[in-house]
Amino acid sequence: MNYFPIFLKLEGQPVLVVGGGAVAARKIDLLLRAHAEITVVAPELNAQLKNLVAGGAVRYIAEEFRPEHLDGKRLAIGATDRRAVNAWVAHQAEARNIPVNVVDDRELSRFIMPAIVDRSPVIVAVGSSGDAPVLTRRLREKLEVFLPTRLGALAKLAGIWRGRVKNRIADAAARRKFWERFFDGEIAADVLAGREQQANDAIQDSLRDVNQSRDRRGEVALVGAGPGDPGLLTLRALRVLQSADVILHDRLVSDAVLQLARRDAELIPVGKTAGAVTVPQEDINALLVEHAHAGKRVVRLKGGDPFIFARGGEELETLAANGIRFEVVPGITAAAGCAAYAGIPLTHRDFAQSLTFVTGHTRDDDHALDWDALARPQQTVVFYMGLTRLADIVARLQEHGAPAERAAAVVEQGTNAAQRVVTGTLGNLAERVAGEQIKSPALLIVGEVARLHDTLKWFNSAVGRESLAASTLFA
Ligand code: SAH
Repeated sequence: MNYFPIFLKLEGQPVLVVGGGAVAARKIDLLLRAHAEITVVAPELNAQLKNLVAGGAVRYIAEEFRPEHLDGKRLAIGATDRRAVNAWVAHQAEARNIPVNVVDDRELSRFIMPAIVDRSPVIVAVGSSGDAPVLTRRLREKLEVFLPTRLGALAKLAGIWRGRVKNRIADAAARRKFWERFFDGEIAADVLAGREQQANDAIQDSLRDVNQSRDRRGEVALVGAGPGDPGLLTLRALRVLQSADVILHDRLVSDAVLQLARRDAELIPVGKTAGAVTVPQEDINALLVEHAHAGKRVVRLKGGDPFIFARGGEELETLAANGIRFEVVPGITAAAGCAAYAGIPLTHRDFAQSLTFVTGHTRDDDHALDWDALARPQQTVVFYMGLTRLADIVARLQEHGAPAERAAAVVEQGTNAAQRVVTGTLGNLAERVAGEQIKSPALLIVGEVARLHDTLKWFNSAVGRESLAASTLFA
């Protein structure tokens, strides 16, 4: 080990920074987060530093560096663009036993700074002893993705209760057990999901009766898996996927997404095939309740967004009626994903001032939709589940006044490697789609914006694109 890692308490401690440019400003930014008392020495300052000095956050000495500037300092940083000056700062600091860092120069540095993930009070520091800074940055990015956003809140809460737990549970082994339950169980899950009140209640409960270890209560996360490309999952979706015991997923959820689940998670397909329900909704509801009551962490994974044509609301009503805790993680809905990957902006100042999502699969075909409204110009109408009724939909729009020349497009398997886009007009789209043998899932986009596909298409769905998307985010 060439470097000894420490966390240094700098609050109120005098630190000297030599240099007045962007490099110095970056270091000062970090030092301010640690509440250090900073003096910056430089003949001139950049605008950012001038602001800090004007605001009183940093003391400024408008001179060339002199050794006396180091007097009484805890730490020194050389951040000028002249190596000779930096070397002199380093030399003088060494002579006074003041730890010194020269930015990007480990020969001149006594200490070097790690890449950090700041979830204060949790701070993760990564370093490669200066050998591979880009690798360290990559590692940091990965940790940034995988560490929950509310990790800091969790640690803070533990800090707040620490003393009381110690008073209440005298035995050290029992106390360790309490904290293990705290971090592995529902309390941590509550905090990470933003249910702070429940977490506090649960801590109070478990402290009141420390000997009675409560069974873990199950919970359900209703999660949007997006339209297919795993790169379009949210970070929150990824996290709950990786902590799930049981995953009930629709057919629309891509394999690439399912592969991101924990290896030992139980996967239960409850998919629908071309509108025909293979597992009845009541059975899905019952399965969710059953697994949650068994204390499992259940993920209900749906294509796109769980609140858009997905019966997410109905499932949550069942959970609420059964007193099961739940959270909802939104996803990129098919309209957003398909439009983006087809190069079709859904709104456009010239062509569409409003946007409507419609289901093409209604129970009462004639009256459920306001066809007059859907046929009007200057808007975009997106039909979900409209493929089987495509001919009917385009005919009806024209009956209600839409011109045969109005542009329209169908996107099959949007955002997946197999994506295909067929463009045309209300007059000829049905024929073209039949000619290309387009299959479900496919999305119908009606509006002049569909013409932009020709100039804005960028996703070429070359083989391997999908794995490429996965590798840049997760490799
Ligand atoms: N909750 C989903 C929609 C479910 S309804 C969402 O927010 O996207 C199912 C319909 O969504 C399909 O019939 C199809 O019209 C559309 N769809 C879903 N994923 C799609 C994809 N990758 N490409 C094209 N259409 C898709």
